[in-house]
Amino acid sequence: MLKSVFDPKSIERDLKSRIQGDIAIDDISRNFFSTDASVYRIVPSCIVYPKNKEDVKEVIKYANSKGIPVHARGAGSGLTGSSLGTGIVLAFRRYMNQIIEINEEEAYTIVQPGVICGNLNHELAKIRKIVYVDNSSENYASIGGMIGTNSSGAHAAKYGYMADFVEELTVILSNGEEIKTHPIEINSEEYNSIVSADTLEAKLYKSVVDLIDNPEVQNLISEKWPKVKMNVSGYNIRDMVTDNMVDLSKAFLGSEATLGIVVEAKLKFIDKPIDTTLVVMDFDSLANSGKAVDLMTNQIGVAAIEMLGKSVIEFGIEMNPALKQFIPKIVDNILYIEFDDPDPNVRTEKVEKTRKLIIEQEVKMYKDMPDLKIMKNLLKSPDSSSSIITILLRRVSTQGWHTTPTGRSHSRQDAHTLGYHEDDYDTQPRHPLERDQFACCPSLMPNSVSTCLSPQASAGYADATVQNGTTVLQEDR
Ligand SMILES: Cc1cc2nc3c(=O)[nH]c(=O)nc-3n(C[C@H](O)[C@H](O)[C@H](O)COP(=O)(O)OP(=O)(O)OC[C@H]3O[C@@H](n4cnc5c(N)ncnc54)[C@H](O)[C@@H]3O)c2cc1C
Repeated sequence: MLKSVFDPKSIERDLKSRIQGDIAIDDISRNFFSTDASVYRIVPSCIVYPKNKEDVKEVIKYANSKGIPVHARGAGSGLTGSSLGTGIVLAFRRYMNQIIEINEEEAYTIVQPGVICGNLNHELAKIRKIVYVDNSSENYASIGGMIGTNSSGAHAAKYGYMADFVEELTVILSNGEEIKTHPIEINSEEYNSIVSADTLEAKLYKSVVDLIDNPEVQNLISEKWPKVKMNVSGYNIRDMVTDNMVDLSKAFLGSEATLGIVVEAKLKFIDKPIDTTLVVMDFDSLANSGKAVDLMTNQIGVAAIEMLGKSVIEFGIEMNPALKQFIPKIVDNILYIEFDDPDPNVRTEKVEKTRKLIIEQEVKMYKDMPDLKIMKNLLKSPDSSSSIITILLRRVSTQGWHTTPTGRSHSRQDAHTLGYHEDDYDTQPRHPLERDQFACCPSLMPNSVSTCLSPQASAGYADATVQNGTTVLQEDR
């Protein structure tokens, strides 16, 4: 049996009668949950697949009484190893993966933490709505993990981060207490009723408000807070208390399950933009594309921005030399910029402005892009699936950044401007192609698990099961 810090057998024995969910202490399961998409590997003592929030409470109360750490786990696609640990892994994707409610009238959805964001958005697409947090990993990242990391994607430039879509969280605290977090006015009836109780929740509210609702601390925060849009390098104390309102959700967003475990989330959704225009630009250096990003975001305003970097381009060409003819050597990186203003004239103006701005500022692009029609054919070819760059380009093309909708003309000058309609949009659930990059062991023999399972092999999968002596990585149940 794999070594562990805590005794798996006694944890299993103790928890068996307390929870309805499954418990796994076998080597394969513990090996599977010892990796995520980071470079780390830590073997846990036990895995619990909770069936409901009562199971989560029981596990936390038990673990707390024994001094065993608890590690929440969504899809394990985190890049920092934050779902790994020596204690009990709470794996949410097996059971707690339900969309509980979609309320179109009030524009919110209530979901369990194991719901995959891509699946949620697939459901919402049916009513032309979206939770616009499109991290590249959205086809396997779970809502719980995205809350844990305050995820964001290409559209963060306009639509923000996970924190901008969370309206309320149901969280289990370290003593097993269940709380609901949403913005509450300080000294309101609701606030006073919470803080007058003898609970951990009351202590939390009081200490957060005492600490942050203080001019000295506020000054310190505004002076020292990093001047960056995205910051998960610590707890988000800046946004917890603002304008006499306290919102504890902000504490949990990006806290990597260190403050509590999210068992339900109420998320807002927005109208899904129908028409968009894409600008693709090749640059000869990172410095130049950086300048362009700065100009575009500050002077024009973009809906989305994404860059394909040099190493990915090189790796792609190495994997599929056919790509060489489309991406000349001088290209250092490719920038994709999207405008989604409903009025096509506004989008056209922005494209023209982009062209002017980039040229006037002498930001060096590489100007002779290949014909994207050829590129599109290449994307269709089965041979191209091995190429990372093609995968990424395909992701771009299926994620709403169509390369070239059939029959539409596009410029072959400095920038390619491409519009598309909803009819062109692929609303089918998308296969997580990027997974191929790191899921190196789709099946392996149980007796050689530890040598076979390389770091990152489990990222993106729900869990592992053994069938006929072979380990099968499970996508979803
Ligand atoms: C190829 C690739 C591309 C990526 N692209 C992006 C990107 O564009 N943008 C981006 O932001 N990230 C990106 N990531 C990182 C990662 O996918 C995201 O951080 C994602 O949100 C993690 O979701 P997960 O379900 O895999 O979470 P996990 O990795 O399982 O967990 C992440 C963190 O959340 C915590 N957590 C999980 N469930 C809960 C819960 N119920 N309650 C509280 N905390 C919980 C975990 O303990 C852990 O600390 C990428 C990763 C890969 C491998």
